[in-house]
Amino acid sequence: MKITFLGTGTSQGIPIIGSDHPVCLSNNSKDKRLRVSVLVEWDNYTYVIDCGPDFRQQMLRAKVSKIDGVIFTHEHADHTMGLDDIRPFFFRQGDIPLYAHARVFKALEKRFDYIFTTAEKYPGVPSVIQHEVKNEAFKVGNLDVMPIDGLHHKLQVFGYRFKDFAYLTDMKTVAETEIEKLQNLDVLVVNALREKSHISHFNLEEALAFIEKVKPKRAYLTHISHYLGFHDNVQQNLPDNVFLAYDNLQITI
Ligand SMILES: [Zn+2]
Ligand SMILES: [Zn+2]
Repeated sequence: MKITFLGTGTSQGIPIIGSDHPVCLSNNSKDKRLRVSVLVEWDNYTYVIDCGPDFRQQMLRAKVSKIDGVIFTHEHADHTMGLDDIRPFFFRQGDIPLYAHARVFKALEKRFDYIFTTAEKYPGVPSVIQHEVKNEAFKVGNLDVMPIDGLHHKLQVFGYRFKDFAYLTDMKTVAETEIEKLQNLDVLVVNALREKSHISHFNLEEALAFIEKVKPKRAYLTHISHYLGFHDNVQQNLPDNVFLAYDNLQITI
């Protein structure tokens, strides 16, 4: 299985428009972060988790020519606003499968009503196939994917486990019963916003405590704010099996 980090930044991305914060001005490519998303590939399957405002650029940058579906964690704009840009895939492949909680579909239907309408669609508008995700395993391609239920302040979010890989973002609270689903992982990806506490995201300390609890072989941090600091400085102070993810990073599991 191959994982590509398409974006590793928090909602505004890094650099932030108009910011003169030193991290936003950094010349290190590892300090430039598009909105958070990963590509998960195995056999001949390609799935993308979330579809934020940088989706088009991410698909071009990672040279993706086919997707088998988009799997959503939750409905926030930084995870969904690129949905219209599934058009090139739709033109080539036909209706694109989407996987999301029923509540997330409601939000998408409001924002992208022209995609979800069935009556008199404007030519060129993409079509999708809706697969509702509940908190139980579901099939994508030839794999069973296990949702991991969590809270993002008070909003329900799904993380996902594919075999020995799990991807959790925008988490603040994860129940013990959900943590049990994360045993024996090779790779855990989890959000770590910054050092200071935040109402709806793990900060660095909480993310590291979560990793300690889950005990994956390796962990990668994502959904990163410029406040966390320069990539190279932050990486130096992390435990041996914990890495700060960066855009374009590829790992094989
Ligand atoms: Zn987010
Ligand atoms: Zn969010």
